[in-house]
Amino acid sequence: MSQPTILQKLEILADAAKYDASCASSGTAKKNSLGGKGVGSTEGMGICHAYAPDGRCISLLKILLTNHCIFDCHYCINRKSSNVRRARFTPQEVADLTLNFYRRNYIEGLFLSSGIIKSSNHTMELIVEAARILREEHDFRGYIHLKTIPEADPELVHQAGLYADRVSINVELPTDHGLTRLAPDKNSRQIEGALAKTTSDIAEAKDARRRFRHAPRFAPAGQSTQMIVGADKASDADIVGKASRLYDSFKLRRVYYSAFSPIPDASAVLPLKRPPLIREHRLYQSDWLMRFYGYQPGEIMQATDSDGMLPLDIDPKLAWALKFREQFPVDVNRASKEQLLRVPGLGTTAVKRILAARRHRTLRLDDVARLIVSISKVRPFLVALDWRPTMLTDRADLRSLLAPKQEQLELFAA
Ligand code: SF4
Repeated sequence: MSQPTILQKLEILADAAKYDASCASSGTAKKNSLGGKGVGSTEGMGICHAYAPDGRCISLLKILLTNHCIFDCHYCINRKSSNVRRARFTPQEVADLTLNFYRRNYIEGLFLSSGIIKSSNHTMELIVEAARILREEHDFRGYIHLKTIPEADPELVHQAGLYADRVSINVELPTDHGLTRLAPDKNSRQIEGALAKTTSDIAEAKDARRRFRHAPRFAPAGQSTQMIVGADKASDADIVGKASRLYDSFKLRRVYYSAFSPIPDASAVLPLKRPPLIREHRLYQSDWLMRFYGYQPGEIMQATDSDGMLPLDIDPKLAWALKFREQFPVDVNRASKEQLLRVPGLGTTAVKRILAARRHRTLRLDDVARLIVSISKVRPFLVALDWRPTMLTDRADLRSLLAPKQEQLELFAA
């Protein structure tokens, strides 16, 4: 059988990498221009977007080194027992592709993950070698994100961090029980041990650079992880609790949530249907509330129903506000920043604008309307100089008044 060309390998290994959500752009409606009709496509794989530490949105070549794997994680299309086309790059091929795409200005960096071939150490050596060629032989200064393998020798994982801007290790599933059932070759203690080691390596490197200007960098953009949503029975409350523990214990930059997508020839232990994509979106919103709005994980859990699930029709902030109506309305002219951040419809930018504006005058509802995107969601929860929402906060139908219409929901669901 003839060897696949680089282009054929790229097609297979870029497609295989699309299941990794670490670049976190949710799905969109499928469109392409194959057959000469129209321009552009939403289905192409291979280049994804990520945010650099300075906030720039950058394009990354997103590929697997190989989709061969000796593990058999039930939810993964690349698992040992899966019947998919396989391919494998050499580290040199990964480096050459990255450099060629970079020189053509298609990408600003590389996102490299891999199935496990021969052993975790062997695979990790190949991943490190690809990064080494780029950094040492070509002085490549673009962004590199490497997926590391928790079962590999910690020294190899450490070397990955010396070449990469960001490293990540997937915790895969929110509960230990789910991991044992769906990824029998993986071990949560090993995964968390590797996350802990990387956390301390990052801290040590930062400390060393404070003292010695030329001390080596180690994953300066930090580490992240990914959890699959909807492949096991874990509730949103379980997922939020796990994410919060991961942020606290390992100082992660991001936890990514990836809605499980049914794969061809799926194992019988998996659900037949994918969870609604809006569930993934609600989890990202709750993640945002914990990281930027001062919500405790317990408060997010208070917004869930008796099965621990977040509502799909409204966002978690509104769900919390509707459950705790006694906390509202808040006075836009006197409330603290923390109280304002809890008002549904007020984001961090709007709160910043309100705090700046009220230094100069007492705000009326119209003034607030000029500072924010939409006043309708905010009105029941705010008091202004000329506005007090009498009885509005207590209305039994407030939820249906504020829930987005179906068409708006589609925007998120896309
Ligand atoms: S280790 Fe598991 S999740 Fe990773 S490629 Fe192999 S089968 Fe897929």
